[in-house]
Amino acid sequence: MTDATSYPAWSIAIHGGAGSMTRDAMDLAAVAAHEAGLAAALDAGRAVLADGGSALDAVTAAVAVLEDDPHFNAGRGAVFTYHGTNELDAAIMTGETRAAGAVAGITHTKNPVRLARTVMEAGPHVFLSGAGAEEFARDHHVEQVDPDWFATPERWRQLEELKAKALGWFDAGMKYGTVGAVARDAAGHVAAATSTGGLTGKRWGRIGDSPLIGAGTYADDRAGAVSCTGSGEQFIRAGAAHEICARMRLSGETADQAARAVLAEIGAMGGVGGVIVVTPSGDTALAFTTPGMFRGRADSTGMREVGIFGDD
Ligand code: ASP
Repeated sequence: MTDATSYPAWSIAIHGGAGSMTRDAMDLAAVAAHEAGLAAALDAGRAVLADGGSALDAVTAAVAVLEDDPHFNAGRGAVFTYHGTNELDAAIMTGETRAAGAVAGITHTKNPVRLARTVMEAGPHVFLSGAGAEEFARDHHVEQVDPDWFATPERWRQLEELKAKALGWFDAGMKYGTVGAVARDAAGHVAAATSTGGLTGKRWGRIGDSPLIGAGTYADDRAGAVSCTGSGEQFIRAGAAHEICARMRLSGETADQAARAVLAEIGAMGGVGGVIVVTPSGDTALAFTTPGMFRGRADSTGMREVGIFGDD
């Protein structure tokens, strides 16, 4: 635990998805590209916080950078559905008021996290989906793109591989690649955001944990902020992000203890993945049960790190 006299003024943590990444299986160019993407997102969030900006603005900025980076499964570079489309989900929440916004099944909005934020700030609702969410986006002048913007050859190859090998429901390599950020600002408020293309080959309008408030995303100034990645069905069943916050608030567990306990519950259900957590005092935890998780964190003391593998 951080001593009360040494709290960082602000801190931020990000993830670019948990998965089966190992040093042996990933080539150096891919390592460098992912690390550069994580560093760019971290720096976008840091710049907001160092300037006295809000945790909400910091997580929005960090997640938007990762959405635009084709290496991650969110925005551009999202995985394909079974029918060859990209359908995006995102959520955002502020711990100050527990206001939240979320969207699912997005096909034309360039940065789903910005649409989730607009839902939170400009309307009476928390969660919009599909054509209605896109109508809301157009009505509120949230940037729209042709669906081709999201498509990349590598994600298409992964869909074909999944279909050819009849690999089952989940991405064979568990290269999840969902993105998220949590932050604590100098005013003491926390926020969380998560954005994803979901799972390769998803169908029937499947929605994972990422845009579900309390499952993949949650923020509460009394406890902390959490963004999740992994096998979404088990994260939904565990109410993972809210459960981590509840454990910290009600039983006094540290971020790391609460994160590990909930990941163990998810493991018992047959799920794997990772979480990032920030507490109201600016402590961060980055925990995962997969071999790797694209991740990074920084705070006002000058700490700044990015990692991919379990031993980073
Ligand atoms: N949790 C996401 C989902 O189930 C996938 C991921 O984390 O990459 O949609």
